[in-house]
Amino acid sequence: MTTLPTVLLKPGEADRILAGHPWIYQSSVQRLTQPAEDGAIVQVKDHRQRLLGVGFHNAKSKIQVRMLATERVEIDEAFFRRQIESAHALRRRYLPESSSFRLVNSEGDLLSGLIVDKYEDVFVLQTLSLGMDLRKAQIVAALQGMFDPAAILERNDVVSRKFEGLTELTGVLAGNVPEKTMVTLNGLKFETSLMSGHKTGMYLDQQVNYRAATEIVGKFSGARVLDCFSFLGGFGLHAARAGAAQVHMLDQSEEAVAAAKHNARLNGLENICSAEAVNVFDWLKRETTPRPNEMILPRYDLIILDPPSFTRNRASVGDALRGYKEIHLRALKLLRPGGVLATFCCSHHVTTELFQDVILSAAFDARKVLRRVGTFGQSPDHPVLPSIPETEYLKGFAFEIAR
Ligand code: SAH
Repeated sequence: MTTLPTVLLKPGEADRILAGHPWIYQSSVQRLTQPAEDGAIVQVKDHRQRLLGVGFHNAKSKIQVRMLATERVEIDEAFFRRQIESAHALRRRYLPESSSFRLVNSEGDLLSGLIVDKYEDVFVLQTLSLGMDLRKAQIVAALQGMFDPAAILERNDVVSRKFEGLTELTGVLAGNVPEKTMVTLNGLKFETSLMSGHKTGMYLDQQVNYRAATEIVGKFSGARVLDCFSFLGGFGLHAARAGAAQVHMLDQSEEAVAAAKHNARLNGLENICSAEAVNVFDWLKRETTPRPNEMILPRYDLIILDPPSFTRNRASVGDALRGYKEIHLRALKLLRPGGVLATFCCSHHVTTELFQDVILSAAFDARKVLRRVGTFGQSPDHPVLPSIPETEYLKGFAFEIAR
């Protein structure tokens, strides 16, 4: 190996890296021993010249180095293959039944800036750092060597790429991408468009929660279920299969509602499921505002709330909490005694404690007492490394109305 440019850290900056966090901010860097190109490999040493490892350099980004390894290894196709194989082994251990999952989740798999989703035999890539972006061909070759992909595409229509000096783009990297892909999750079929669907096509992070949060319907006879922010019908269809008598799904996107109805038919659940294109805030408000001489009729046994992240940054957490509180307050009014609210929050900036506080404050206003009967996190293909707090974002609870 030729000599690599060396990034020397300031005193006190090495511990976080030793603990596993891969980001080195500009402010942590003492100096660079020789010029390094953006996207190139550099070695990183602490202020006493002890090697911490190698990573991608990018002076354009606030994150000047993204660590990849703790030793001086070559970053080539073989490196990607080894890392992806180990990520795959993790999925085989914790999601042994799944054929679709997030194969690589960036920092969670020690590959900062790389996301690979496996939808049956189609693979979707996101390269969110310049170093990764420049090595797309090696990553594609590694995937082709490990699997037999029908197609590999990139969904690099991600805003954060601009922080790395990258533009947004979508395209096919190998094979032919069908317009619609049929994905099986927990034995249910979902059709989605990988070229244009949300995220890379589906919310794979909810895979284990679909089952865990809906199995409760078996305990009610003739359960009525409301799935708010339903997208392709992930929770709704699972509830229907688990024995619900009626499932109503709400999403503001006409396309999502059409897809959810289509997916219900694909699974023979169309007689149980209905879906409506509507703003959930408006719908809940209408259903919980009594008209003169009318009472609100609590009529659901299970309500699922899985909204998009209401905040992308710390500054707007306050507004987000008001949004969360409103939907919880209204949903609680529609639950029958003993009914269950399964609720999720996918914002990293809203902590588990904060999220629970907001739900309790909604319960207080609704004069309900809640019993927590379940807690949820992101599926194991979105690994959480506590030394990298950014890897944890999805949290959820099931609350039963105790009184
Ligand atoms: N539960 C879904 C994922 C939900 S993602 C699943 O497991 O796949 C959030 C969804 O909420 C998106 O489909 C988006 O179209 C929808 N959405 C966002 N804001 C909304 C609103 N105010 N009212 C209704 N739907 C909304």
